[in-house]
Amino acid sequence: MIGKHTTIFIETALQKCNSLSHIKQIQSHLISTSLFQFSLSSRSKLLELTSISSYGDLSYATLIFNYINHPLIYDYNALIRGHAQSSNPQIALYLFLSMLRASQKPDALTCSFVLKACARALAKFECYLMHSLVFRSGFMVDMLLQTTLMDVYCKVGEFRDAKKVFDEMPKRDIVSWNALICGLAQGSFPNEALKLFYKMLGTGLNADEITVLGALSACSQMGALKEGDKIWCFIKEEKLDMKVVVCNAGIDMYSKCGFVDRAYEVFRTMRCKKNVITWNTMVMGFAMHGHGIEAIALLKEMECVGVFPDTLTYLGVLCACNHAGLVDEGFRLFNLMEEKGIVRNVKHYGTVVDLLGRAGRLNEAYGIINSMPIVPDVVLWQTLLGACKTYGNVELAEIASRKLVEMGSDSCGDFVLLSNVYATYKRWNDVGRVREAMNSRVLKKVPGFSYTEVGGILHKFINGDRSHPSWREIYAKLDEIMYKIKEHGYVPGTRFVLHDIGEEDKEYVLSYHSEKLAVAFALLKSSQETPIQVIKNLRICVDCHAVLKLVSKVYNREIIVRDRARFHRFKEGTCSCKDYW
Ligand code: ZN
Ligand code: ZN
Repeated sequence: MIGKHTTIFIETALQKCNSLSHIKQIQSHLISTSLFQFSLSSRSKLLELTSISSYGDLSYATLIFNYINHPLIYDYNALIRGHAQSSNPQIALYLFLSMLRASQKPDALTCSFVLKACARALAKFECYLMHSLVFRSGFMVDMLLQTTLMDVYCKVGEFRDAKKVFDEMPKRDIVSWNALICGLAQGSFPNEALKLFYKMLGTGLNADEITVLGALSACSQMGALKEGDKIWCFIKEEKLDMKVVVCNAGIDMYSKCGFVDRAYEVFRTMRCKKNVITWNTMVMGFAMHGHGIEAIALLKEMECVGVFPDTLTYLGVLCACNHAGLVDEGFRLFNLMEEKGIVRNVKHYGTVVDLLGRAGRLNEAYGIINSMPIVPDVVLWQTLLGACKTYGNVELAEIASRKLVEMGSDSCGDFVLLSNVYATYKRWNDVGRVREAMNSRVLKKVPGFSYTEVGGILHKFINGDRSHPSWREIYAKLDEIMYKIKEHGYVPGTRFVLHDIGEEDKEYVLSYHSEKLAVAFALLKSSQETPIQVIKNLRICVDCHAVLKLVSKVYNREIIVRDRARFHRFKEGTCSCKDYW
């Protein structure tokens, strides 16, 4: 017989463990006294600590587990939980299968651990199986399990099912609301996330920091400043801005909504202690808006107050230098990183190649790529190729394209860039060769699209899109715009279109880029006083940039475009990027 006192004694000892060697000592005690076989609770506690504690060791836990003749549900749960949190969550799913084969009946805890493994392994099919198992086992009353299930559906991208689980929940707590709000916000359904956020407030539940993080992230994605402002006021009223993560999200939201000044105000006036992420978020905000000098100043300031800049800080400052055209300063900081022993990754190299390439220092950029201690990725060669297009450097363009083909790039854009370089020099034979190569493979083309918000509704436009209900009106407006700006000296930038097609057709291809459609629509439907805000998924092209500058002057409207890389604020015929992007 095992004395109750012995068990209590062992479990207390286990609780005090803080290293694997402590655990091993207790394990040897359990084995030598045969308690390993008979004191089941001590054994599963030991297994749990070995699998999930910070000092634990999952492979050692597996070894212990394999020693157990007939593992019980607690043993399985401990090991499944450990694997579900590991970098190899599939093992948790295999363990679960072997548990079912051994005729062990899972409990609610098992299901919750397996679901967490499904979320991490993005195992959609298994998630549906678990849902039916949870249902059949009568665990659907468990609110926590339902929330986990909803969370998993969001993570594997099945939002309709997540919503269904949510709607069918008899009772919901803040955790369940948060799971769906954040799930929708992160899953590119920002509108739905915000609606749900207000619905939750309507039920009288108090939002916590997770809720507002979801809401802020939704606003950032849509660039919805008015909503973001409202939510930030709410956060301050509820004193949720005492948490540094919330302040960081606030800085990010204001930067991404185009108002870096307000982001900076949040940064300056925050009442909690800043961490390195706070600094990095602000640096990134400056970078997006092309405020190079400010970003460099922030780097110096953080060093002064004793916060160590990390790889992300430097990446932000390099991007800022890049967007502001501070070539020498950026290059100096890039070299400084090496002196300071901060590891430079492929993104740092990419930014500095872009920086040199845009300034026309193509040979130096090529030299950097060749000197890299890591293998350059596709993006780097694409960056160089892009710069070659701008400066018409055929020789380097061919080298970069060859590399891209060797690396198996299947991006349509790469071929278009090379053919554009040839087209600049009217080398139509070479253009034809590239076009043939394009036709002979299946190429990926990222469609360009833009968002603009009019009357509280987000409208999406795709290049050459005619799916919008008012497309006729929009196209007519766009024709009017093009006509008017030509009177102000606009010449279509047809140099950047593929193929040796006639000048008129080239113009046609360019004029229906999604950002132009979005701006035409906003000019039609929104009031004269509000600036037009557009979010674009790719980098804005030279032609659209030139057009929007003129539109801002001719129509006397401020236009703010957030493209993939940065913000452009068009006003009275000029852009905040000073034509450097
Ligand atoms: Zn364009
Ligand atoms: Zn610009």
